Amino acid sequence: MLTGQTAVVTGASRGIGKAIALELAAKGANIVVNYAGNRDRAEEVVANIKALGQEAFAYQADVASEGEVAAMMKEAIGRFQSIDILVNNAGITRDNLLMRMKEDDWDAVINTNLKGVFHCAKAVSRQMMKQRAGRIINVSSVVGVMGNAGQANYVAAKAGVIGLTKSLARELAGRGILVNAVAPGFITTDMTDELASETKEQLLQQIPLAKLGEPEDIARVVRFLASDDAAYLTGQTIHVDGGMVMP
Ligand code: NAD
Repeated sequence: MLTGQTAVVTGASRGIGKAIALELAAKGANIVVNYAGNRDRAEEVVANIKALGQEAFAYQADVASEGEVAAMMKEAIGRFQSIDILVNNAGITRDNLLMRMKEDDWDAVINTNLKGVFHCAKAVSRQMMKQRAGRIINVSSVVGVMGNAGQANYVAAKAGVIGLTKSLARELAGRGILVNAVAPGFITTDMTDELASETKEQLLQQIPLAKLGEPEDIARVVRFLASDDAAYLTGQTIHVDGGMVMP
């Protein structure tokens, strides 16, 4: 149970982030529902959390902005007095083949998917160090391990998240802060809705469990990583992908 704990979940207005926010709330955590643009959807998630009996508020912040992230964490501590769990879930894709990929596409994806994790982890670490306890859970991707044609920016960021997870795990272990990652395979969300049906068919052939995952499949593993059951686990990346990658 996560009763009385505070979790900040980035990109929590839809998809995997929303499922994580609801799963942690169902186990008793109060939630900061970070969102980038869609206030109505974020407020819906807040209402769902309150219906579960927990506290929550929506906070608009671009994870790529150090100042916005710092202000969000300050607000979280002001309202809930602690930050026990940070889930770095926010992410975007801007796919293109290398020769067609613009510098803007590279920067946007790296800034959101990798630098955003750095900003959020840095901003919560001061508080978690004072608490001498905390969990940071980063959402990477199987493609960060496998590589993927047409996603050089996204893959570089997600591979970077795995390295950052290991580094922070070593750096923060002495302060009681555990840092792990989940690497989802292909999960049915707005992000994967954009894939062509032939691409989905090809993907299915690479997945031993022969189905795409659901956001809740990721959320349950994140809940485990946030729980006392994962107290002796740090620096790891758990692949939640139906068996697609077996490193
Ligand atoms: P999604 O597009 O439905 O959700 C992403 C969320 O991040 C959205 O709510 C979006 O508003 C938010 N976001 C984007 N940029 C942001 C920013 N700068 N600041 C704050 N929030 C921002 O996608 P999803 O499928 O739910 O993906 C969630 C995470 O899981 C991402 O990191 C994604 O890379 C990762 N992932 C997804 C899959 C998949 O198959 N869906 C697979 C592997 C990894």
